[in-house]
Amino acid sequence: MTGIAVLGSTNMDLVAYVARAPKRGETVTGRDFHTIPGGKGANQAVAAARAGGDVSMIGAVGADDFGSLLRRTLESSGVDTDLLRTAEGPSGTAHIVVDDEGGNSIVVVPGANGHVTSLAPGDETLIASVDTLLLQLELPLSAVLDGAEAARRHGVRTVLTPAPAQPLPPELLAAVDLLIPNEHEAAALAGVFDPPAAAQELLRQVPEVVITLGSAGCLYAARDTPPLTVPAPRVTAVDTTAAGDAFVGALAVALGEGRPMREALAWASAAAALCVQRPGASPSMPYRPEIDAAYA
Ligand code: ADP
Repeated sequence: MTGIAVLGSTNMDLVAYVARAPKRGETVTGRDFHTIPGGKGANQAVAAARAGGDVSMIGAVGADDFGSLLRRTLESSGVDTDLLRTAEGPSGTAHIVVDDEGGNSIVVVPGANGHVTSLAPGDETLIASVDTLLLQLELPLSAVLDGAEAARRHGVRTVLTPAPAQPLPPELLAAVDLLIPNEHEAAALAGVFDPPAAAQELLRQVPEVVITLGSAGCLYAARDTPPLTVPAPRVTAVDTTAAGDAFVGALAVALGEGRPMREALAWASAAAALCVQRPGASPSMPYRPEIDAAYA
């Protein structure tokens, strides 16, 4: 089994559905409410575990009911949570208002995630024991950098999802093996919108890049091979939340198993296409037999 560590966020998504979002000072009555486990780190951990990886999560939940629920959600998908700490105060939450036109506004409160500012005892030993470390940008950058540098010291493949988009210190990119932005994040980092041109620009800083292109699939580029484009399966999307995380989790498993890049990308695309056909974040991640069936 491919060993994967995820150093990242856990959030509870609190989603209210309303005809229209309230203005400042106004109260509106909503129609529906969902509580959905998410956070990019936890989503990727669940995606990789359900895809067949041996996955451990490093991060923190809060000392509240959401924290217990977030931990149980990870464990029920087979993610090891021994190094998922319980921090003082609330768990990370995302307060999401979705209106009838499908528009949304979101307040993210990092909560416990904000307490993860560096690696804790045991984290580096775990990182040294896996094939791949998955990183995103929902924890303080100091912890992300510590994790990337620990992975580099131990020859562990480092995969970074640069979301939410923000300027990155060169020393972080210098420790990354594979960067997986969506096209907006790629454009923000590269300063060029055209994905092939953005990929070439990013290759100055990292050896391999996958730019995900939503329903158009993905583009892979590396310094020493010609670029590859892999189309996404044609499906009817009902909720694209966490599509990128489904893709990254499955890709990490396939690459860890030594599958060739084109095949790994197509398999990850099959996983992401299953995710967009279901509502929610972590709960929408497909299991390996489903991915195999969709890929065949
Ligand atoms: P993010 O979710 O991070 O914004 P994308 O929107 O690029 O990233 O989606 C990530 C991947 O999910 C895509 O590369 C594709 O494989 C898959 N995907 C996203 N939207 C669709 C869709 N409508 N149909 C099929 N696959 C999709």
